Amino acid sequence: MADFIRALNFSAMEMTPCSAVKSFSWKRLRSQKHVLWRLGTGNRAYKSGAAMEEEALRIRCGGIGGSSAGVAVMEKFADEDDYVKAGGSEILFVQMQQNKHMEEQSKLLNTLPGISVGERILDLVVIGCGPAGLALAAESAKLGLNVGLIGPDLPFTNNYGVWEDEFKDLGLQRCIEHVWRDTVVYLDAGDPVLIGRAYGRVSRHLLHEELLKRCLESGVSYLNLKVERIAQNAIGQSLVECEGNIIIPCRLVTVASGAASGKLLQYEVGGPSVSVQTAYGMEVEVENNPYDPSLMVFMDYRDHVRHKVHSLEAQIPTFLYAMPMSDTRVFFEETCLASKEAMPFELLKKKLLLRLETMGVRIKKIYEEEWSYIPVGGSLPNTEQRNLAFGAAASMVHPATGYSVVRSLSEAPRYASVIANILKQSRGMNILMSSGNIEHISTQAWNALWPQEKKRQRSFFLFGLALILQLDIEGIRTFFLTFFRLPNWMWQGFLGSTLSSTDLMLFALYMFVIAPNEMRKGLIRHLLSDPTGATMLRTFLTLKI
Ligand SMILES: Cc1cc2nc3c(=O)[nH]c(=O)nc-3n(C[C@H](O)[C@H](O)[C@H](O)COP(=O)(O)OP(=O)(O)OC[C@H]3O[C@@H](n4cnc5c(N)ncnc54)[C@H](O)[C@@H]3O)c2cc1C
Repeated sequence: MADFIRALNFSAMEMTPCSAVKSFSWKRLRSQKHVLWRLGTGNRAYKSGAAMEEEALRIRCGGIGGSSAGVAVMEKFADEDDYVKAGGSEILFVQMQQNKHMEEQSKLLNTLPGISVGERILDLVVIGCGPAGLALAAESAKLGLNVGLIGPDLPFTNNYGVWEDEFKDLGLQRCIEHVWRDTVVYLDAGDPVLIGRAYGRVSRHLLHEELLKRCLESGVSYLNLKVERIAQNAIGQSLVECEGNIIIPCRLVTVASGAASGKLLQYEVGGPSVSVQTAYGMEVEVENNPYDPSLMVFMDYRDHVRHKVHSLEAQIPTFLYAMPMSDTRVFFEETCLASKEAMPFELLKKKLLLRLETMGVRIKKIYEEEWSYIPVGGSLPNTEQRNLAFGAAASMVHPATGYSVVRSLSEAPRYASVIANILKQSRGMNILMSSGNIEHISTQAWNALWPQEKKRQRSFFLFGLALILQLDIEGIRTFFLTFFRLPNWMWQGFLGSTLSSTDLMLFALYMFVIAPNEMRKGLIRHLLSDPTGATMLRTFLTLKI
């Protein structure tokens, strides 16, 4: 069986996405967007076992500089939220981003041993090989668990940005490829705000290498397949059903397959709807770069495009996020912080090019394009389910900033030890892993991931997200001008996600006191009329730990 699984690993590797490529036409591709998904009807939140019919449509997509040859593959979606989380109307760009070639990164397949079934049952299967999955698998195996990692052998393709001190604290400083000594925000023609914190660009190659090394050293085994379903057998084991009818039994499963994990997990019903942060980025060689290469530009909300793009969607505020790597090489990203319907990448690209033109920046060479699609908000997973989750699958993305990687990496050791403890408990007490028992112990892990304090913080951020969604550009500027007048520890703590729920209440009160009257009225209106206001008050008043 072990050899069979190893052989499968190899055959999966050889089935490159390009094997079913059709001719490429952007026009056709856009007109086909609407047929790329279909929704079933019925219970929205509990449809993981009854996902929609699959149809495969593969289309070749071209990119600049050979960096992004990609393939759009029709997927199954559990429900509408799952479809939106997977990329919604922008799914082709999302898939191009995911399918970028990164030759510098090692294959998991060539590094980790294959999962072997039959000798000793796996304690834990982690589904998904993103930063969250790799980190959790490594930390769990370090604690002596027999861990299998299952998921497509894809490289890290996203350009992650982090506060330098956060990555240092995680022992990952060597994975930062560029550091800016400070970070700057421009809101209007007034003076810029210096954040007073160094920012770093993560080397996706070094981060991948480091996490893979941790998996290897701790003894994680690997299977290069997509998971289709998770079931249970009569003796309480979990059965991870992969494509090709390969079934891997184990004691416990943690789903870390990214935001669109509705096929494998149940989410709470009636929660807030999902919004999306989209950003179109370009790493370019330029003439007339106006930015100081020693400062990272966190947000530039100055008006460079407003009067030139006339559409309703274009009125939604966007800002420039810029990483000047040198005087002439810059990573520019036009970003829509959040919108109910994803702002299309084509519009973001248009806005970026207009902005650069207005600023007098001339592009000489494009090294890479980036399509950043981050679902924000949405429901928490149902914490009574047996299977666990981690990373974006577990709604760990910060609703107001879109960040999750540092949280996943920093919580992985603690979460792994909770998992190891509950598995040990059940073994030590000789508990038969009946469905009831395992669900009971799973609840302990869910509560460790989402204790009441974290839920309070999240309800506050969701309230903030709903507020941001309603603001026009003037509203956004007033909001951030007030935000940056708060005491430093408050706004820096908000951006770094270090404020407790009590700090956040203080933050809200302070913000209210110093805000201009118009914004105060808006805050009260929002608190009283938006459902996230009532949810936040309810969550803060719940006394559970
Ligand atoms: C371009 C871009 C830039 C970003 N920049 C930042 C940033 O600067 N900072 C930050 O914190 N966040 C950033 N984000 C958001 C961040 O990428 C995600 O929140 C983060 O990658 C989530 O990590 P994850 O491991 O939970 O999930 P993912 O990285 O999405 O990994 C999930 C993995 O699961 C696999 N998978 C999916 N379905 C299955 C299945 N059925 N079976 C098995 N495996 C499966 C996928 O192939 C993938 O490898 C960015 C996102 C993008 C797109």
